[in-house]
Amino acid sequence: MPGRLESDAGPTGRHAAGLFAAAAMHRDSNGNALHAPVLVLNASYEPINVCAARRALVLVLKGVAMTEEENGHFLHAARVAMRVPSVIRLLEYRRIPHQSRALSRKNILLRDRNTCQYCATVLPSGELTLDHVIPRSRGGSSTWENLVACCHLCNRRKGNQFPLEAGMKLMREPRAFNLHTSRHIMRLMGRSDDKWRKYLFY
Ligand SMILES: [Zn+2]
Repeated sequence: MPGRLESDAGPTGRHAAGLFAAAAMHRDSNGNALHAPVLVLNASYEPINVCAARRALVLVLKGVAMTEEENGHFLHAARVAMRVPSVIRLLEYRRIPHQSRALSRKNILLRDRNTCQYCATVLPSGELTLDHVIPRSRGGSSTWENLVACCHLCNRRKGNQFPLEAGMKLMREPRAFNLHTSRHIMRLMGRSDDKWRKYLFY
């Protein structure tokens, strides 16, 4: 989905790049505002993604999206001041494939919210590993349903055993990452932003 938006940099995209190069000189005032999360809505108002404010501004400057809500900050670059969006909406409807997201370490950790699925410890991504619930050596495959976030301690303890053999229990059944899961994550991210609420909670 929005990954595709990444590539179509037109003349306005280059203009935007110049703007951000100028903005970089005022990093102190703009730095944080540019990394603030922005909710991306489809043309139909369906929430489809979260991106950084910097990227949202590029989409608005390129005429791909429009600002629906502002976050109260300004981006000062050269002689221009732009309002930083909090919610943007794509002007053209994009079909979002209903198939689940790509299986990747990042997405597994996202689904499991950086929580070891055996001992419930929440850790930074770098301190988590992926565990094959049914060990690979015993025929377990690398699938959404067989991979979970796991701390190194639990991973060592489990070794080549089934959870039951190791006396361990999964917090919950691992499932594929679907639209419901992504919306849940968007809600978690948007909890602090009132302006997201009406698009995410209905
Ligand atoms: Zn653990």
